[in-house]
Amino acid sequence: MTNFQGIVHGKCPKCKIGKIFESKGNLFLLKEPKMHSHCTNCGYRFEKEPGYFIGSLYVSYGLAVAELLTLFIIINPIINSVYWILSIMITVLILLSFFNFRNARTIWIYIFQT
Ligand SMILES: [Zn+2]
Repeated sequence: MTNFQGIVHGKCPKCKIGKIFESKGNLFLLKEPKMHSHCTNCGYRFEKEPGYFIGSLYVSYGLAVAELLTLFIIINPIINSVYWILSIMITVLILLSFFNFRNARTIWIYIFQT
């Protein structure tokens, strides 16, 4: 399994078998995604130190910008109203928030794996 496949499937960067998140969370039930502190297969520690995942906010920002830019390119020729475009983009951003949260942390773990 490559690193890209590991990120997409949310697997441990060391063994690529254990999962990083124990639950994906549910936006509609207001249940946030839950992470394992260590890999269930090899014991790799995901959070190296307190505040380790603050840097993943930059990754989350990058993901959100890429998603919204793609969405804007798709809907701009179809919809002429700025207010509708903004409303759709904000709605999509909220709906993708847990997806971005999980993937930003996973990418952050893969960037700084040892
Ligand atoms: Zn592992």
